[in-house]
Amino acid sequence: MTAGAAVPTSEELPSGTEVVVIGGGVIGVACAHALAEAGLPTVLVEAGELGSGASGACEGNVLVSDKPSGPEFELARRSVELFSDLEERLEADVQREEKGSLLVAPSADAAELLAVEAAWMEEAGLRVERLDSAAVMEAEPVLDPENEGALFVADDLQVCPMRLVLALAASARRLGARLVRDCRIEAIEVESGRVVAVTTSRGRIACSSAVVAAGVGTRRLLESVGVEMPLTGRRGQILVSAPTSGLIRHKVYDFGYRATVRNLDDDAVQVAAVIECTRRGNVLIGSSREFRETSAEPDLAVDAALARQALELAPGLAGLKILRSYAGIRPTLPDGMPAIGACGSVGGLFVASGHEGAGIGLAPATAELIAAAISGDGAPVSPEPFDPGRFGAGGASGAEREAA
Ligand SMILES: Cc1cc2nc3c(=O)[nH]c(=O)nc-3n(C[C@H](O)[C@H](O)[C@H](O)COP(=O)(O)OP(=O)(O)OC[C@H]3O[C@@H](n4cnc5c(N)ncnc54)[C@H](O)[C@@H]3O)c2cc1C
Repeated sequence: MTAGAAVPTSEELPSGTEVVVIGGGVIGVACAHALAEAGLPTVLVEAGELGSGASGACEGNVLVSDKPSGPEFELARRSVELFSDLEERLEADVQREEKGSLLVAPSADAAELLAVEAAWMEEAGLRVERLDSAAVMEAEPVLDPENEGALFVADDLQVCPMRLVLALAASARRLGARLVRDCRIEAIEVESGRVVAVTTSRGRIACSSAVVAAGVGTRRLLESVGVEMPLTGRRGQILVSAPTSGLIRHKVYDFGYRATVRNLDDDAVQVAAVIECTRRGNVLIGSSREFRETSAEPDLAVDAALARQALELAPGLAGLKILRSYAGIRPTLPDGMPAIGACGSVGGLFVASGHEGAGIGLAPATAELIAAAISGDGAPVSPEPFDPGRFGAGGASGAEREAA
């Protein structure tokens, strides 16, 4: 299947099902796939086209190396495990490549911090190798020879995000899920404290559960049933080069990128270099972060900042021909972690959103948690840290707090 292949969706609106998944980004299609695999009658409803939100405007990093030690790291590690046989399970090529990442220290201070990170990563069982400056240049000749070394983390992967979205959708459909596009969910109907249906722009679907995986649209849908979640949009931008003959071999990122991801209190535009090469040889140069939900149009000043940062890290990219840039909006929660699980205050209401810059990588493990929450089965990763109620209202713990 190619990224431009026809989207496998159903045009008919079913009148009823067990679970409605709201949103056809990577998180929604992964949830629909996992629910269909678990044998639950499922309908996915997407307002536009599959992948028309952040999932179609991102990079394909599947990283464990950028997560802090803790629950998100465990979720990322479980996802990497699930990615290992995903292509066989989906019967599709999602361009999975076990490239590993090079976390480059541009300064002596960064090198010291990197050594601390290397220690816990090794302890956690990741395949980590310390490279000195000469070894870094051998691995990636376009990088700055003045670098202070790097960490190579072999566990990090790359996939093609749109291929992943379409392959999950196609497989979900083969397993019996119905996919409806160009159809907006306008309301979630709740009766006696339980989800009973969703109202769409094309009619009503009766259901006993709804999974809100609507990216930055999640907050509004939850608000409509009285659940508040402080989810905002964090805009990001990427430069795309003309095809090269594999100018960058690994995933390469400035060690400072990790701090940018976690710097959730800064309103200014933040840029840190993260560079990868697609299978066709296009170099993708990311990425920026700014709290803005309104514009997915690329911005020239951000393009310039991305180019500057990339050249500081990799001066050998100076001759690169940039073809275009694109932007997307990351759904983001104040602690930087996704919300995955039941909204305890409304029976049958589930959320899978807020994955910030890691939704592609975290999709398989997120879907596993959602399928486990709805079917009542256990999951290999503890769902508690991702409880949608952790911000004070609406999730399982939120409801408990209210009752206390
Ligand atoms: C520049 C950039 C680079 C990134 N790079 C990476 C990366 O390398 N690796 C990684 O893992 N992640 C990356 N991300 C993050 C990743 O793109 C997101 O975390 C992920 O796509 C979020 O997926 P989602 O399904 O939650 O949201 P989305 O993809 O935004 O999907 C939500 C969908 O819900 C639909 N919707 C909304 N409201 C309604 C409604 N009322 N009814 C029906 N449908 C509705 C929308 O149309 C949309 O299609 C990047 C993001 C950006 C912006």
